[in-house]
Amino acid sequence: MLNDVQLERYSRQILLSKLDLQGQAALLASRVLIVGAGGLGCPLAIYLARSGVGVLEIVDSDKVELSNLPRQIGYQSQDIGSAKAEVLARELRSSSPDVQARAHTISFSEYVRNESLSCFNLVIDATDSVSAAKDLNRSSIAAQVPLLYVSAIGTEGRIFVSEGWRAERPCVECWLGPADRQEQGCQTMGVLSPSVGAIAVLAGVQAIKILLEQPKSGVFCIDTWTLDTMNLALSKDPQCAACGVDSRG
Ligand SMILES: [Zn+2]
Repeated sequence: MLNDVQLERYSRQILLSKLDLQGQAALLASRVLIVGAGGLGCPLAIYLARSGVGVLEIVDSDKVELSNLPRQIGYQSQDIGSAKAEVLARELRSSSPDVQARAHTISFSEYVRNESLSCFNLVIDATDSVSAAKDLNRSSIAAQVPLLYVSAIGTEGRIFVSEGWRAERPCVECWLGPADRQEQGCQTMGVLSPSVGAIAVLAGVQAIKILLEQPKSGVFCIDTWTLDTMNLALSKDPQCAACGVDSRG
């Protein structure tokens, strides 16, 4: 149960019938892995911590650079040169004492060589890299943990919940296919700072939804400039190399 300080801290969320006391207690008992502590990972981690997600582990091997500061809101000028995951975990611990925030200053591929994903309730892909998304997808299917995929390019974003180990539910590769696609990250395409923040915060709502109930399948697309949105229906691909029938040797 929640103590008196927690009841006061989360009182506005507890008022929501979608959460109530039970939902808040479930969030406090949840463990989430966020891969990528950049423009998407920072707002996601900050909002999930402040919402009371109990354990947040951050994986990122990068250091803070000047060009990160317009959108990576977990960092200040004096953090340039420091490890992103460590600075962000420190920020989360300071703003949200209920949260156990841990930093892993290694790449995701190195992380999964030593650690299992099965202890998490949710893995979030905030890397904005198609190749990383595919690796995360396969690891999350093997561990049977939902993967929240989120990406932002320009002013547009996409959010998708991958649960390929479940019958009828598609995975990242059912959608993006196995072929190597051209990486179009914000380094080459550019990104608007509040757009990436808006997309990350929308993904944060979906993360909480996944921690509390079963999510819907489908790809949510938004252009934060025009405010146009689209929901793409997506089915499981039986031939999918990651989650299809043929992939289960
Ligand atoms: Zn699939």
